[in-house]
Amino acid sequence: MVFGEGNPRARLMFVGEGPGPEEDRQGKPFVGPAGQLLANIIKAMNLTRAQVYLCNILKCRPPENRNIRPDEIQTCYPYLKRQISVIKPDFICALGTVAARTLLKTKQPISSLRGRFYDFHGVRLMPTYHPDYLLQNEDKKRDVWEDMKKLMQAMSRQEGNRS
Ligand code: URA
Repeated sequence: MVFGEGNPRARLMFVGEGPGPEEDRQGKPFVGPAGQLLANIIKAMNLTRAQVYLCNILKCRPPENRNIRPDEIQTCYPYLKRQISVIKPDFICALGTVAARTLLKTKQPISSLRGRFYDFHGVRLMPTYHPDYLLQNEDKKRDVWEDMKKLMQAMSRQEGNRS
């Protein structure tokens, strides 16, 4: 099982789709190739992996890496809801179609969802492309960086309002 990892008081939570082979081996989220790219994104945001919280919609890797089934999403979803209510992040970044559609309860494509904030039970949620998708579509990195800049701005604005 790959439950999640990071700062229990994180202001920002990244939610991916589900563990890949390397995550399955190590029991940690985002430690494979997509995780390396996500690590670069986190660093570029002037944050560290230890400051954020990383988890997935699915807590187990689907056998033979087959596509995930709706009933698997439904089975894991209560765990994610509970993780969110325990960590109480101020911001969630939903990585990719599965995370964005599940959290926002929509069937819209990630290309039309990304780049805007949504309300997720009082948490500000920004959907963007999944790092796995970026590995295949390098030209989309610019869009993700635009989304992350909006997230950084909103986070520093909120920080400023607090102090
Ligand atoms: N892709 C995901 O969605 N999550 C991981 O943890 C790793 C790869």
